[in-house]
Amino acid sequence: MPALSQVVTDSSEAMSIKYNTKVYELKQRGKKVLVMSLGEAYFDIPLFPMEDLPYPEVNHYSHSRGIVELRVKLAEYFASEYDVRFDVDKEIIVTAGSKAAIHMTLMSILNPGDEVVYSEPAWVSYPEQIKLCYASPVGIPYEKSVYEYEAYITPKTKAIIINNPHNPRGYVFSQAELEHLLEIGRRHDLWILSDEAYSDFLIDGSFVSLGRLDPDKRNAVIFNSMSKNYGISGWRIGYAIANQRLIDNVLKVNQHLITCPATILEWYLARHFHSLLEITKPQIRDVVCKRKQLAEYMDQLGLTYLPGAATFYFFVSIAPSRLTSEEFCTRLLEEDLISVVPGAGYGASCDRFVRVSVGTASLEENQFGLRRIQALIQRTS
Ligand code: PLP
Repeated sequence: MPALSQVVTDSSEAMSIKYNTKVYELKQRGKKVLVMSLGEAYFDIPLFPMEDLPYPEVNHYSHSRGIVELRVKLAEYFASEYDVRFDVDKEIIVTAGSKAAIHMTLMSILNPGDEVVYSEPAWVSYPEQIKLCYASPVGIPYEKSVYEYEAYITPKTKAIIINNPHNPRGYVFSQAELEHLLEIGRRHDLWILSDEAYSDFLIDGSFVSLGRLDPDKRNAVIFNSMSKNYGISGWRIGYAIANQRLIDNVLKVNQHLITCPATILEWYLARHFHSLLEITKPQIRDVVCKRKQLAEYMDQLGLTYLPGAATFYFFVSIAPSRLTSEEFCTRLLEEDLISVVPGAGYGASCDRFVRVSVGTASLEENQFGLRRIQALIQRTS
């Protein structure tokens, strides 16, 4: 039989998707599962009219940077919400989700053998995407702060990836921490990739986009997405903002892989940009408030989690249990019909944790799920 690529063969399945697939299979067998593993919050969003979109233009390939009407809307939003400015013709590319934007950016900056540093718990795709670019992922153990990252930089390091606000910690980086990262970037000539897919999922105004602190975009690269902030993950629209040199490279990769995002969706989003935000913003607020209530509930139960107040995730410690995080999640699913994601999928230092997403179930259902997690820890410690 002809051989396969070793790099792809060796890459791991996304742990979150693996557990969500188990949920789909259980549901198909008629089981009622309490889902605390999904990487999104569900919003109530109407379908706006599509008849007035420019037809037949919507049926065809668009500009491979994304239609300018959507780029302009995003530029206005970034200026007003995050105090970040970019040139809509040179410094942004809209593509099929931020996952693709991150991968194409890694392809655009990495050479075989380079290293990319990121902190654990790390979003499941960072290490695999780095490996798919023939480079080496360097995960920093979860207990290290930004001020300790420099110890992980070698002459081979090309970039640092951060996720702000953080999935699954819910942590928001302070301006001082971001400035420190940029300083490391300048000193070692590194790209600082800031994945900001959850930028609106907080209620205290503490979010600072890395783009605001590097207005010339010398080192900073920003990724964001319509998936989470607009509640339309299935539409696959995300984007990268960076200096022209880098975006020109990403554009070439995009042209050869994807051509452009789905034109009809770009038009729909450009037309209904503000109406969508008006509908999703209050719902985002509700989700983050629910997270706050659940944090207080876990404090009462005696469950511990890594500090953070944003997003709709928690990275919950299962430390007293003698099970690995995979064994823990499998038993929780089989015995209690509750799905959460094993911490092991988020890095070598994270096997004493599980990721809990409170985005799709109600407050009461989540409270029930947390009690069952607590009970399983007790049963197995
Ligand atoms: N970054 C983080 C931290 C995420 O959690 C996700 C999705 O789960 C993404 C990026 C990718 O989002 P999308 O490709 O839907 O834009």
